[in-house]
Amino acid sequence: MSVANGRSLLAIPGPTNIPDRVLQAMMRPAEEIYSGPMEALTAGLMEDLRRVFGTRGRMYIYAANGHGGWEAALTNVLSRGDKVLVLASGRFALGWGEMAEFMGAEMEVLEGSWRAAVDPDAVEARLRADKAHAIKAVLVVQIDTASGCANDIPAIRRAIDAAQHPALLMVDGVASLACMPFEMDAWGIDVAMSGSQKGLMTPPGLAFVATSEKAEAVHKSANMRTPYWDWTARQGSLHYMKYCGTPPEHLLFGLRAAIDMLFEEGLPAVWKRHALLAGATHAAVAKWAEGQALAFNIPEPSQRAASVTPVLVADGRCEAITEFTQKICGVTLGSGIGEMTGKAIRIAHMGHCNAPMLLGTLGAIEMALQGLKIPHGPGGAAAAVDYLGRHAAG
Ligand SMILES: *Cc1c(COP(=O)(O)O)cnc(C)c1O
Repeated sequence: MSVANGRSLLAIPGPTNIPDRVLQAMMRPAEEIYSGPMEALTAGLMEDLRRVFGTRGRMYIYAANGHGGWEAALTNVLSRGDKVLVLASGRFALGWGEMAEFMGAEMEVLEGSWRAAVDPDAVEARLRADKAHAIKAVLVVQIDTASGCANDIPAIRRAIDAAQHPALLMVDGVASLACMPFEMDAWGIDVAMSGSQKGLMTPPGLAFVATSEKAEAVHKSANMRTPYWDWTARQGSLHYMKYCGTPPEHLLFGLRAAIDMLFEEGLPAVWKRHALLAGATHAAVAKWAEGQALAFNIPEPSQRAASVTPVLVADGRCEAITEFTQKICGVTLGSGIGEMTGKAIRIAHMGHCNAPMLLGTLGAIEMALQGLKIPHGPGGAAAAVDYLGRHAAG
């Protein structure tokens, strides 16, 4: 018997639930693209995205998904044969590095663990050893959506500075922007990128790249540049140049509404909400884990992401759980990817998500654990309720 009819929920780490206000903002006719309102929309979004990224640097908006944002970031600063150092902590930084390699860069992976954040001391040691400064860029994700770790970007910046290394610091904020603090300028990030469909609550299809002055200077002599992604071309004065063609208008209308919502709530409150929902999720998983069949992928609590919690499941029962929650309850959970394929479920608490959405998701997982007779400590969902009752009410 199913109790799935009702509003179905996406609890996958992107795309995320789209607010009705964002959907409604997109329900309108197309506009003329060369003047007036569209120019003002672009100018306002660029300014407000700078605020979300925490930068006074340049901002570029692409009609692209996150992978497009990766390519946009790389092609503008790399030259053929440049070495990039990938700080591995799951699947995503590796994917970015593989793209750089495909484009003609040399990739070196600083091996890490799928169960822990990047170790800043290891970054410092590797960069100190690079006396010739062959490494031109360091690639890192703030939150790795596969492993569920959150990397300490300021600590990684300090490691680069301690080694007195000139490499660019390039940060992927796709799964973290508007979910946890992101302070591009204060943290000394040279190139930051993100996408529309996770913390920014907008349909997939927009990518954002923000740059420092240092990155713009490197860009001038980079030889991997291509016309669509090119920053210089996008600095052209005509409006369509900012998108290298027709702007993705309806996504921009949606993004406008999403950013308005974020600012009305206030970014610090948005980050706090994510931290609370993550804390509630951790309270539930900690209880379930007492049954020995489930475990946090990231054992160290301070390294866990605010936006997604991957949970290891013994004996390959994860597919049974995700099928149960979807068919019986109407909640779609994320599955393990990369090395964690078939070994984990991923609970997203990212973007447009509140207590009833999260508690419903956790309740559905507990129903699945019961229904499928997967050993688990009792009271996980209740522990989440208790956590929010204690921490969110005050
Ligand atoms: C989702 C994600 C991406 C890729 O975004 P796509 O839109 O699927 O191309 C890149 N990096 C991180 C950290 C992500 O979570």
